[in-house]
Amino acid sequence: MTHDELWNQALSEIEVNLTRANFITWFKQTAVANLQDGVVTLSVPNGFAKEWLKTKYHKFILRAVRNINHDVKDVDYIIGQYKPADVERKRPAYEKRHTSENTLGSAEFNEEFTLRDITIDPDTNLNPRYTFETFIVGSFNELAHAAARSIVKSLGGSYNPLFIYGGVGLGKTHLIQAVGNEVLKHAGKPRVLYVPTERFMGEVVEALSTQGMGRLKEKYRSVDLLIIDDIQFIGRTEKMQEEFFHIFNTLYQSNKQILISSDRHPKAIPTLEERLRSRFEGGMIADIGLPDRETRMMILKTKTETKGVVVPEEVLWFIADSIKTNIRELEGALNRVVISSKLANNPITLDETKKILAHTALEPRRFTSFKKVLRCVAEFYDLNEKELIDRSRRKEVVRPRQIAMYLLREDLKSSFPFIGEKLGKKDHTTVIHACKKITQELKNNPTLEEEIRAVREKMYSL
Ligand code: ADP
Ligand code: MG
Repeated sequence: MTHDELWNQALSEIEVNLTRANFITWFKQTAVANLQDGVVTLSVPNGFAKEWLKTKYHKFILRAVRNINHDVKDVDYIIGQYKPADVERKRPAYEKRHTSENTLGSAEFNEEFTLRDITIDPDTNLNPRYTFETFIVGSFNELAHAAARSIVKSLGGSYNPLFIYGGVGLGKTHLIQAVGNEVLKHAGKPRVLYVPTERFMGEVVEALSTQGMGRLKEKYRSVDLLIIDDIQFIGRTEKMQEEFFHIFNTLYQSNKQILISSDRHPKAIPTLEERLRSRFEGGMIADIGLPDRETRMMILKTKTETKGVVVPEEVLWFIADSIKTNIRELEGALNRVVISSKLANNPITLDETKKILAHTALEPRRFTSFKKVLRCVAEFYDLNEKELIDRSRRKEVVRPRQIAMYLLREDLKSSFPFIGEKLGKKDHTTVIHACKKITQELKNNPTLEEEIRAVREKMYSL
C-alpha cells in the first residue's frame, strides 16, 4: 500500500466523524510523508495546523491509520510539502467553484457576502445556508451539537423537547435550522416548520381576530418537527401561552419532535408560565457557551475557505483576538476587512485591518452605565426602577436590588457607599453583605448564574 493509499483510506474514516467544515479546514493539504518503524509522519501545511491536529485530532488520526495498518504505533507531524490531495476531491462542486478563484475581484464573491439570505423555503421557513456541514463544533457548543445530532437520528425520541440556549450570535439559529435542513433529507418527506417566536405570536393574534385559530392549529399540529426560535420573546399574555401550550402538548403526545431555542435557561424567562417551563425542563436542555480563541480562529479560517478568499493568518488572529463573544460579529468583522480591501484594491494586511476595525466599535456591548444596570435589572425582574431605588422591603424587590448592587460593584466598580446611597439609602455594610451573598450563591446556584448572565446580556446590548 502506498502512502497515498494509506492516507486516503484514513481520511475517509476521519471524514465521517467530523463536520465538513472542520474536515476541510484541518485535513486539507495533508499527506503521509513517511512511514518508518511504525511511525507515520504526516505532512501538514503550517504550524497552526500542526498544533491543532496534534492537540485535537491526534487520537482520531492514530486510530484511523491504525485501523488500516495495524503496525502503526504513532503519528508525528511535520510542516512540509503537501500535495493538494483528496480533501479537495471530496469537496462538493459548489465549494470548489468558490475556492478555485482566490481573487477578491469576482462578482460571485460579492454576491456571497451580500445576498445570501434570499432563498428561504416558504414551506418550512428554513434557510438552506444553515447546515451541519458549515457548523463548527468546539467545546463551547459540543453538547448542544451532539443533542441536535441525536434528534436528527431519532425524531421525537428521548430528547423531546430539546431546548438550546446561549447568548446572542453564538449559533442557536444556525444549529436549530441545521437540524431542520438535515431532517428534510430523511425518507418519507417529514414535515418541518421553523418559526421565530415573534412570528408565531403574530400568527396567533391574527388568527384570533379572523377566527382562523382552527386552521392555525391544524398547520402546527401537522408537522413532524417544530422548531421555535427565541422563545424568550413569548409574551406574558395568557392566551398566547395557552395556544402554544396546546400545540406543544398535541405534538408532544403524538411523539413529534419539538426543538426550541432561547437566549437563556427556561428558569430565567420571567414571562414563561410555570406549566410551559416544567414541560421544557422535562426534556433535554443544552447550552452554548463562548468559543475559545482557537475555535474563533477556526471559524474565521473556515469562513475564508468557503468564501474563497485568502487572508493572512496574523490578520485572522487579530480579528479572533478582537471579538470574543459573538460569532456573528466575528464574521461581520472579517467581511468588513475583506470588502474594504477589495474596494480599495489593496491586499489585506494587518495594518489595514487594524485601521478598518478601529473605525467600527469592536464589541460595543462592553459599555454600560448605572442607569442601564437599574433599567435592565428592573425589566428582567418585572419591577419598577423606582422600587429598586426606594426603601421598599418587599421580598420581590429585595433580591433584585441585591443583584443590582452586585452588578454595579462587579461591572462598574462603583463604591459601596455610592451604591448604598443610590439604592434605598442603605448603609455601605448592607451593600457589602449583598455582594458577598450573591457571590457566594453564584457558586452553586445555576439559576441565579443564568439570570445574571441574561441581565448582563441586556446591560451590554441596549
Ligand atoms: P444566534 O441565533 O445564537 O443569535 P446565529 O445562529 O444567528 O446566532 O449565528 C450568527 C452567525 O454566526 C451566523 O452567520 C452563523 O452562521 C454563524 N455561526 C454561529 N455559530 C457558528 C458555528 N458554530 N460555526 C459556524 N458558523 C457559526
Ligand atoms: Mg437567532
